[in-house]
Amino acid sequence: MLNLVLFGPPGAGKGTQSQKLIDQYQLIHLSTGDLLRSEIAQGTALGMEAKKLMDQGVLVPDEVVIGMISNKLDANKNSKGFIFDGFPRTVAQAEALDQLLATKDSAISAMIALEVNDDELERRLLLRGKDSGRPDDANPEVIRKRIAEYNNKTAPVANFYKTQNKFYSIAGIGAIEEIFASLCSVINQL
Ligand code: AMP
Repeated sequence: MLNLVLFGPPGAGKGTQSQKLIDQYQLIHLSTGDLLRSEIAQGTALGMEAKKLMDQGVLVPDEVVIGMISNKLDANKNSKGFIFDGFPRTVAQAEALDQLLATKDSAISAMIALEVNDDELERRLLLRGKDSGRPDDANPEVIRKRIAEYNNKTAPVANFYKTQNKFYSIAGIGAIEEIFASLCSVINQL
Protein backbone atom coordinates (compact mmCIF):
# COMPACT_ATOMS: atom_id res chain seq x y z
CA MET A 1 0.00 0.00 0.00
CA LEU A 2 1.02 3.58 -0.62
CA ASN A 3 0.00 5.66 2.40
CA LEU A 4 0.98 9.31 2.21
CA VAL A 5 0.62 12.11 4.72
CA LEU A 6 0.42 15.44 2.92
CA PHE A 7 1.65 17.97 5.43
CA GLY A 8 1.71 21.74 5.67
CA PRO A 9 -0.08 24.70 7.20
CA PRO A 10 -3.62 25.77 6.21
CA GLY A 11 -3.43 27.22 2.70
CA ALA A 12 -0.30 25.27 1.70
CA GLY A 13 -2.16 23.56 -1.17
CA LYS A 14 -2.75 20.13 0.36
CA GLY A 15 -6.31 19.86 -1.00
CA THR A 16 -5.33 20.90 -4.54
CA GLN A 17 -2.37 18.52 -4.70
CA SER A 18 -4.36 15.66 -3.10
CA GLN A 19 -6.86 15.80 -5.97
CA LYS A 20 -4.06 15.39 -8.49
CA LEU A 21 -2.34 12.62 -6.50
CA ILE A 22 -5.48 10.48 -6.16
CA ASP A 23 -5.82 10.45 -9.95
CA GLN A 24 -2.17 9.64 -10.54
CA TYR A 25 -1.81 6.88 -7.92
CA GLN A 26 -5.45 5.70 -7.46
CA LEU A 27 -5.51 6.48 -3.76
CA ILE A 28 -8.38 7.31 -1.41
CA HIS A 29 -8.36 10.91 -0.20
CA LEU A 30 -9.03 11.28 3.52
CA SER A 31 -9.35 14.92 4.60
CA THR A 32 -10.53 15.31 8.19
CA GLY A 33 -11.50 18.94 7.43
CA ASP A 34 -13.78 17.74 4.57
CA LEU A 35 -15.20 14.95 6.75
CA LEU A 36 -15.99 17.46 9.52
CA ARG A 37 -17.59 19.92 7.07
CA SER A 38 -19.75 17.08 5.76
CA GLU A 39 -20.89 16.31 9.34
CA ILE A 40 -21.77 20.01 9.73
CA ALA A 41 -23.71 20.03 6.44
CA GLN A 42 -25.68 16.99 7.61
CA GLY A 43 -26.40 18.70 10.94
CA THR A 44 -25.11 15.80 13.07
CA ALA A 45 -24.35 16.23 16.78
CA LEU A 46 -20.65 15.65 16.06
CA GLY A 47 -20.77 18.31 13.34
CA MET A 48 -22.44 20.88 15.58
CA GLU A 49 -19.85 20.37 18.35
CA ALA A 50 -16.97 20.53 15.86
CA LYS A 51 -18.33 23.69 14.22
CA LYS A 52 -17.96 25.71 17.42
CA LEU A 53 -14.24 24.92 17.50
CA MET A 54 -13.63 25.17 13.75
CA ASP A 55 -15.22 28.64 13.62
CA GLN A 56 -12.68 29.76 16.23
CA GLY A 57 -9.78 28.24 14.32
CA VAL A 58 -8.87 25.72 17.02
CA LEU A 59 -8.44 21.95 16.65
CA VAL A 60 -11.26 19.52 17.44
CA PRO A 61 -10.48 16.76 20.00
CA ASP A 62 -8.13 13.97 18.89
CA GLU A 63 -10.64 11.18 19.60
CA VAL A 64 -13.18 12.74 17.23
CA VAL A 65 -10.88 12.79 14.19
CA ILE A 66 -9.22 9.46 15.05
CA GLY A 67 -12.69 7.85 15.16
CA MET A 68 -13.59 9.28 11.75
CA ILE A 69 -10.33 8.05 10.19
CA SER A 70 -10.75 4.60 11.73
CA ASN A 71 -14.23 4.30 10.15
CA LYS A 72 -12.91 5.34 6.74
CA LEU A 73 -10.01 2.86 6.88
CA ASP A 74 -12.50 0.08 7.65
CA ALA A 75 -14.81 1.20 4.85
CA ASN A 76 -12.02 1.12 2.22
CA LYS A 77 -10.28 -2.17 3.01
CA ASN A 78 -9.26 -2.99 -0.56
CA SER A 79 -7.80 0.35 -1.57
CA LYS A 80 -4.29 0.75 -3.01
CA GLY A 81 -3.56 3.30 -0.31
CA PHE A 82 -4.59 6.59 1.24
CA ILE A 83 -3.67 10.25 1.18
CA PHE A 84 -4.11 11.77 4.62
CA ASP A 85 -4.78 15.49 4.24
CA GLY A 86 -5.03 17.63 7.38
CA PHE A 87 -4.44 14.54 9.53
CA PRO A 88 -2.51 13.76 11.74
CA ARG A 89 -2.43 17.24 13.27
CA THR A 90 -1.08 16.28 16.71
CA VAL A 91 1.51 13.75 17.86
CA ALA A 92 -1.29 11.78 19.59
CA GLN A 93 -3.10 11.51 16.23
CA ALA A 94 0.12 10.34 14.53
CA GLU A 95 0.60 7.63 17.15
CA ALA A 96 -3.03 6.52 16.78
CA LEU A 97 -2.67 6.39 12.99
CA ASP A 98 0.39 4.13 13.26
CA GLN A 99 -1.60 1.79 15.51
CA LEU A 100 -4.64 1.76 13.19
CA LEU A 101 -2.49 0.96 10.15
CA ALA A 102 -0.53 -1.71 12.06
CA THR A 103 -3.78 -3.60 12.73
CA LYS A 104 -4.14 -3.76 8.93
CA ASP A 105 -0.49 -4.88 8.47
CA SER A 106 0.22 -1.53 6.89
CA ALA A 107 2.14 1.67 7.68
CA ILE A 108 2.73 5.23 6.53
CA SER A 109 5.02 5.27 3.47
CA ALA A 110 6.01 8.95 3.73
CA MET A 111 5.07 12.36 5.02
CA ILE A 112 5.60 15.08 2.42
CA ALA A 113 5.52 18.70 3.60
CA LEU A 114 4.59 21.64 1.38
CA GLU A 115 6.68 24.62 2.51
CA VAL A 116 4.93 28.03 2.25
CA ASN A 117 5.69 31.19 4.28
CA ASP A 118 3.09 32.75 6.65
CA ASP A 119 2.48 35.92 4.56
CA GLU A 120 1.68 33.88 1.46
CA LEU A 121 -0.60 31.57 3.51
CA GLU A 122 -2.63 34.45 4.88
CA ARG A 123 -2.94 35.96 1.38
CA ARG A 124 -4.10 32.63 -0.13
CA LEU A 125 -6.60 31.91 2.64
CA LEU A 126 -8.23 35.35 2.43
CA LEU A 127 -8.48 34.92 -1.35
CA ARG A 128 -9.96 31.41 -0.94
CA GLY A 129 -12.43 32.80 1.63
CA LYS A 130 -14.04 34.92 -1.08
CA ASP A 131 -15.55 31.87 -2.75
CA SER A 132 -15.01 28.85 -0.47
CA GLY A 133 -17.88 29.96 1.76
CA ARG A 134 -15.82 28.71 4.73
CA PRO A 135 -16.36 30.95 7.77
CA ASP A 136 -12.86 30.08 9.01
CA ASP A 137 -11.30 31.48 5.78
CA ALA A 138 -13.14 34.80 5.98
CA ASN A 139 -11.75 36.31 9.16
CA PRO A 140 -8.05 37.33 9.44
CA GLU A 141 -8.07 36.73 13.20
CA VAL A 142 -9.32 33.15 12.77
CA ILE A 143 -6.76 32.56 10.01
CA ARG A 144 -3.96 33.69 12.33
CA LYS A 145 -5.33 31.41 15.07
CA ARG A 146 -5.29 28.44 12.66
CA ILE A 147 -1.69 29.19 11.71
CA ALA A 148 -0.78 29.50 15.43
CA GLU A 149 -2.47 26.12 16.16
CA TYR A 150 -0.44 24.66 13.31
CA ASN A 151 2.84 26.06 14.65
CA ASN A 152 2.13 24.96 18.25
CA LYS A 153 0.46 21.57 17.86
CA THR A 154 0.93 20.35 14.31
CA ALA A 155 4.49 21.35 13.32
CA PRO A 156 5.92 18.89 15.94
CA VAL A 157 4.28 16.01 14.02
CA ALA A 158 7.07 16.42 11.41
CA ASN A 159 9.60 15.22 14.02
CA PHE A 160 7.52 12.10 14.62
CA TYR A 161 8.05 11.08 10.98
CA LYS A 162 11.65 12.37 10.86
CA THR A 163 12.60 9.90 13.58
CA GLN A 164 11.07 7.15 11.41
CA ASN A 165 13.06 8.43 8.37
CA LYS A 166 9.80 9.08 6.52
CA PHE A 167 9.88 12.90 6.27
CA TYR A 168 10.30 14.76 2.94
CA SER A 169 9.82 18.43 2.20
CA ILE A 170 9.25 20.37 -1.04
CA ALA A 171 8.63 24.02 -1.99
CA GLY A 172 4.89 24.77 -1.97
CA ILE A 173 5.22 28.04 -3.92
CA GLY A 174 5.13 28.10 -7.71
CA ALA A 175 2.90 26.67 -10.44
CA ILE A 176 0.51 23.88 -9.38
CA GLU A 177 2.03 21.55 -12.01
CA GLU A 178 5.59 22.24 -10.85
CA ILE A 179 4.67 21.45 -7.25
CA PHE A 180 2.88 18.29 -8.39
CA ALA A 181 5.98 17.20 -10.35
CA SER A 182 8.13 17.65 -7.21
CA LEU A 183 5.66 15.55 -5.21
CA CYS A 184 5.67 12.78 -7.82
CA SER A 185 9.45 12.68 -7.93
CA VAL A 186 9.53 12.08 -4.16
CA ILE A 187 6.80 9.43 -4.34
CA ASN A 188 8.37 7.61 -7.29
CA GLN A 189 11.59 7.17 -5.31
CA LEU A 190 9.87 5.57 -2.30
P1 AMP B 1 -8.88 21.99 7.26
O1 AMP B 1 -9.97 21.85 6.26
O2 AMP B 1 -7.91 20.85 7.24
O3 AMP B 1 -8.19 23.33 7.17
O4 AMP B 1 -9.57 21.94 8.70
C1 AMP B 1 -10.52 22.90 9.12
C2 AMP B 1 -10.71 22.82 10.63
O5 AMP B 1 -11.19 21.52 10.99
C3 AMP B 1 -9.44 23.00 11.48
O6 AMP B 1 -9.15 24.37 11.72
C4 AMP B 1 -9.82 22.25 12.74
O7 AMP B 1 -10.71 23.01 13.55
C5 AMP B 1 -10.62 21.07 12.21
N1 AMP B 1 -9.76 19.90 11.89
C6 AMP B 1 -9.54 19.34 10.66
N2 AMP B 1 -8.72 18.28 10.75
C7 AMP B 1 -8.39 18.17 12.07
C8 AMP B 1 -7.55 17.28 12.80
N3 AMP B 1 -6.85 16.30 12.20
N4 AMP B 1 -7.45 17.46 14.14
C9 AMP B 1 -8.15 18.42 14.77
N5 AMP B 1 -8.93 19.32 14.15
C10 AMP B 1 -9.06 19.20 12.80
